[in-house]
Amino acid sequence: MKIQAINGFKDILPDEVTRWQHIEQVTRDIFHRFNFKEIRLPILEETQLFARSIGQSTDIVEKEMYSFTDKGITMRPEATASLLRAFIEHGMHVQQPVHKLYTIGPMFRHERPQKGRLRQFHQLDAEIIGAVEPEVDAELMAMGQLLLAELGLEASLEVNSLGCPQCRPAFRQKLVDYLEKYTDQLCGDCRRRISTNPLRVLDCKNPNCRELVNDAPSILDALCTDCDEHFARVRSSLDLLGVTYTPNPLMVRGLDYYTRTTFEFIARNLGAQSAVGAGGRYDGLIEELGGPKLSGIGFAMGIERLVLLLQEKDKSESAPRNQVDIFIAALGDQATLKCFQLAHLLRKTGIRAGMDYSGRSLKAQMKLAGRLGARFTLIVGDQELQEKKAGLRNMQDQSQEDFSLHQTPEETARNLKTIITESLPVNERPDFTRRQI
Ligand SMILES: [Zn+2]
Ligand SMILES: [Zn+2]
Repeated sequence: MKIQAINGFKDILPDEVTRWQHIEQVTRDIFHRFNFKEIRLPILEETQLFARSIGQSTDIVEKEMYSFTDKGITMRPEATASLLRAFIEHGMHVQQPVHKLYTIGPMFRHERPQKGRLRQFHQLDAEIIGAVEPEVDAELMAMGQLLLAELGLEASLEVNSLGCPQCRPAFRQKLVDYLEKYTDQLCGDCRRRISTNPLRVLDCKNPNCRELVNDAPSILDALCTDCDEHFARVRSSLDLLGVTYTPNPLMVRGLDYYTRTTFEFIARNLGAQSAVGAGGRYDGLIEELGGPKLSGIGFAMGIERLVLLLQEKDKSESAPRNQVDIFIAALGDQATLKCFQLAHLLRKTGIRAGMDYSGRSLKAQMKLAGRLGARFTLIVGDQELQEKKAGLRNMQDQSQEDFSLHQTPEETARNLKTIITESLPVNERPDFTRRQI
């Protein structure tokens, strides 16, 4: 019997991991520039954490969670709830008034697997806790936009306000009144949503429902004075930062805990437009979860989506990646032993070195060096070893020069390191300063 990965769970193979590492690196770099600190969280949480935060009547809690029903625990379907649970549990709010936290990792939802929808998927998640000012909303969105831009992706930003407990109930009633007039034209899900979660009808993908909600009352006309002012300042702050955006009163997001600002980043690289990230403000949630009365706002981006978009974008540019700086092709037993030692010394100095011990022909070894994208290949045979010389081939232009092997392997390694480093453009040279042999 052949054992395979479970449907909806995917291996990320080495070639693809390079892209993941790049995304994670750019993310950390940008988040740190905005003074975010990383927090690492467990995957299992008490089920009631998600029922209370995400909302009992949301799709996630109703049908998508992986729960161990006999134990009352669940594999996290998103990061915000866990992050706030940790924030409250460790009393982090007493240390300083505002916290900027991020986390990167897997989330789990029992969805129908389809293109780009996995049951284990990965998100990068950023949250600002303890600040109510609209400038913070703008700063967070600007950070998300900068991240996408530095990854080389084109995305637009859509912004909405969902109001607060003062103004949303009245809007909800107005919307229900409107929807009830058209019950028979709505899809089955939306008919049910009228009583459970009427705002979700606004972002239903069914064409009939979409048609109907175009004339529905707009939340932006129903905001109370405070919410209206907050949203106006969010928009003017985005303008100040030069962040372009479109207000979208139909964007409600699937989670119950959002208040005021919600937003989505929509990628344009794929044929169809798709959300790569989304977030919003959750001013009552921390208190709801038993914590202090603090505001919060955050967003999450799907790493699988980012990977897909980058793959799409790079399709034309398939330049081989350099996995090693130098490949050492040894011919003969004596040479193999010497080179074995040399490769290790090079790696100690910070050079990425590759080698093969199977005694293959020079031709086969050169092929391997090419596959690894080596910049140089050092060719050493037993005969050359006696004469303390070798051949150094520049793999880019295929030119080959004589290279003298020094008295000690350390000296040889140092010399090779100098040659390799000097062949690189200044901005691509690794920082070797602390690696000496
Ligand atoms: Zn309000
Ligand atoms: Zn619908």
